[in-house]
Amino acid sequence: MTKRYVVRPETAVLTRGFDPKLSVGAARPAVFRSSTYVFSSPESAARAFDIALGRAKPAPEESVDLIYSRLSHPNAEILEDQIVPLERDAKEAAVFNSGMAAISSIFLTFCPPGSGVVHTTPLYGGTQLFLDAMMTPLGARFVVADAGDGKALAAAIARTPGLKLVFLESPANPTLRMTDIAAVVEAASAHAERPLVVVDNTFLGPAFQHPLTLGVDLVVYSATKYLNGFSDLLGGVVLAKDRELITQLRSTRALLGNILQPDECWLLNTRLPTVSLRMNRQSKNAQRIAEALNGHPALERVIYPTLFTDPDQVRIRDAQCDYPGGIVTLEIKGGRHGAFAFLRRLRIAHNAVSLGGVESLACHPRTTTHSEMSPEQLDHAGISEGMVRLSIGIENWHDLLADFKAGLEGL
Ligand SMILES: *Cc1c(COP(=O)(O)O)cnc(C)c1O
Repeated sequence: MTKRYVVRPETAVLTRGFDPKLSVGAARPAVFRSSTYVFSSPESAARAFDIALGRAKPAPEESVDLIYSRLSHPNAEILEDQIVPLERDAKEAAVFNSGMAAISSIFLTFCPPGSGVVHTTPLYGGTQLFLDAMMTPLGARFVVADAGDGKALAAAIARTPGLKLVFLESPANPTLRMTDIAAVVEAASAHAERPLVVVDNTFLGPAFQHPLTLGVDLVVYSATKYLNGFSDLLGGVVLAKDRELITQLRSTRALLGNILQPDECWLLNTRLPTVSLRMNRQSKNAQRIAEALNGHPALERVIYPTLFTDPDQVRIRDAQCDYPGGIVTLEIKGGRHGAFAFLRRLRIAHNAVSLGGVESLACHPRTTTHSEMSPEQLDHAGISEGMVRLSIGIENWHDLLADFKAGLEGL
């Protein structure tokens, strides 16, 4: 056991959860690629299985033998310990081999057949497809409310019987519409069945938005995005205040075999100390670019939190986001033709889906990330033909702005 000091998150992420003595003195963790672990005694093996299968609870400070890497392994344990201080109020984390693995495991764990589920729309495309393709056949009943529509969300929560889970994405992708998380928590706590409230915090967390402090039960991430930040691995994380919720998720993970593998854990671990540095730089760059492009003659609109004009959206932004973040959405004049011409001309930002990496990316949501939605759904959600989503990286912002201006020239 290493001695635990009470330190701030930027320090804790470098000092918690890793004991060099267990890695032959190495200053950074080793990668433990073993699939199975040698027990210290047959009694310890039996004890480890009792705990893994929930027949016994570990005593405080008890060191329990590892069993098999589908259940857990040292690199997952180190990563889970080190990621906790990055999420305000979190006590425990579980890592998965993608954001979708984390999201699907949440629904499979907490929504038994026939459950009611309330969620905001639009949702990340993969999440929406998972709900339609996998949860609907399991008898889940969905009640949907537009992102940012607090009244509709409260009404949906109040009138859904058997409600087990409320799933929010804020800000929504790619429209950046924000949902009042605290208000949803309040509506959910007034419901007789006390549904879990889950926030997909991929766009603004862990640096700029802290849902657990607002009373949310689970925060989920695609760690593929900002947490990792280099567009070179897939990962997912779930964090909670209540350790028991994470224990239940780990049981699902052991059955599905969707734990993050040791090499990926190690890589993600090396990226954690710079999450806040990268996100701050990305947010500063994005704000300068969004504000400089605002009013450009080739643009209908620039969507960015500091440019919000709707008083309710301004209120939510000020209440729950520390900084505006690295995503800028442009609405280019000339519809799809204008958007595609812009994408073809970019020289620094690449035309690719995904976001949150140190390199800037641009994509056309209507024909790619959100193409599973019907034209009516797309129009309703405000995902127009001229819309381009920019994920701003850590390049020099003057160069990026020049690239975007050149892309818009004469459109
Ligand atoms: C990318 C993303 C996901 C899915 O994560 P993967 O790591 O690609 O499985 C979920 N939610 C949001 C908001 C995302 O951007």
